[in-house]
Amino acid sequence: MFDNQWEGAGGMLAGRRYRLEFSPDQAAFAERVGGICRSVWNTGLQQRRAYRQRGAFIGYAEQCRQLAEAKTEFGWLAEAPSQVLQQTLKDLDSACSRHGAWKVRWRLARRWKPAFRFPSPEQISIQRLSRRWGRVKLPKFGWVRFRWSRPPGGTVRSATVSHDGGRWFVAFLIEDGQASPAAHPGPRAGIDRGVIVAATTSDGDFHDRAYIATGEAQRYRRLQQQLARTRRGSNRRRRVIAKIGAVMLRVRHRRADFNARTAASLCDRYGTVVLEGLKTANMTKSASGTIECPGRNVAAKSGLNRAILDKGWYGLELALTSAARRSGTQIVKVNPAYTSITCSTCGAVDAKSRESQARFACTSCAMVAHADVNAAINIKNAAGQVMSGRGDLAIGRSVKRQPPRTRARPHTPAARGIPVVQGQEEVNQPIGRFLPSPVSPGL
Ligand SMILES: [Zn+2]
Repeated sequence: MFDNQWEGAGGMLAGRRYRLEFSPDQAAFAERVGGICRSVWNTGLQQRRAYRQRGAFIGYAEQCRQLAEAKTEFGWLAEAPSQVLQQTLKDLDSACSRHGAWKVRWRLARRWKPAFRFPSPEQISIQRLSRRWGRVKLPKFGWVRFRWSRPPGGTVRSATVSHDGGRWFVAFLIEDGQASPAAHPGPRAGIDRGVIVAATTSDGDFHDRAYIATGEAQRYRRLQQQLARTRRGSNRRRRVIAKIGAVMLRVRHRRADFNARTAASLCDRYGTVVLEGLKTANMTKSASGTIECPGRNVAAKSGLNRAILDKGWYGLELALTSAARRSGTQIVKVNPAYTSITCSTCGAVDAKSRESQARFACTSCAMVAHADVNAAINIKNAAGQVMSGRGDLAIGRSVKRQPPRTRARPHTPAARGIPVVQGQEEVNQPIGRFLPSPVSPGL
């Protein structure tokens, strides 16, 4: 969500999220702004793909210029704060340069959760109103009240408004004015992230928490059944989806809370925390697929995917990185290959040693340990194989990773037999101009 730079000139950067209390007018306006951002994103993406297909390229500056032009012609575009639309094109630019225009997704109304950023701190002001309430002034929105759940604790660099689980939030990027701490002198620990227990340390501590209460799980299942009985596009379906969203929001908040607490306690105690460099995004990607290429093995993978994502592995990694900036703890990622089938005492590698999910009994030296603790010790000791910052794996594959694709996919869409723009109204628009389609504010 935020820029990937955590060191600002005035200290460390941190994200702080608050619940917004929009007035009904403001909420309706926010929905429209979200819709306009979505339209600008899709139009910009379509344009980039059309250029790429011709072997040409269009960048941020040119798209911005065309957006300004299009605003004079399409009044509804000008309704959104202009810095927010420029930021959308900037986000599109970095998404496309990171992943390539063909892999960046359309923002579909039913899938995309509205989120837009105000990048100029001089146009954002925050005031505290009472013990529990504050307000923030945002361009074109005016003053918006929010729940003052904690002090921002620094200077605001940007604000992101987002819609999630039926609620609106504002996240501030804060510069706290504090210098980075000295290196943490504490010991080293390895962390095994698992499907059964969220995180196990090499010292034998288990960090876990149920994110969903029994009642909630029942309610969730009932709502899923209700959903299956509704008609597409019906009002009832929309209401059921909103209820499911509210349950999942609570689950996500609990998971984020667990991750933050676990990360804080680990960073408090250890000078170095060693993690497996799991590529969670890749592990789950093939089931969900992309818009252009729906995933294979969807049914087979979804059970495991749910387990992986339910434990919030990537969220824990982010929380650790964030907590480590304040404690001086070093986070090291290592190649996860064989950590779960290697004996941490004698080093023998044998899949048979892993007797069950929980029990490891070495077939060579008869050492017996909890399988996750054994893996965590291997991870701790594997710290020599530091991974590159982007999480690339150089050698061997872990049993936890999926096999690679056997067939390399060609890059051009034509070669894949995929029409360039699927179901996009912009398909007939001339390429040289930025012509967004009008949005329906229904999100
Ligand atoms: Zn052994």
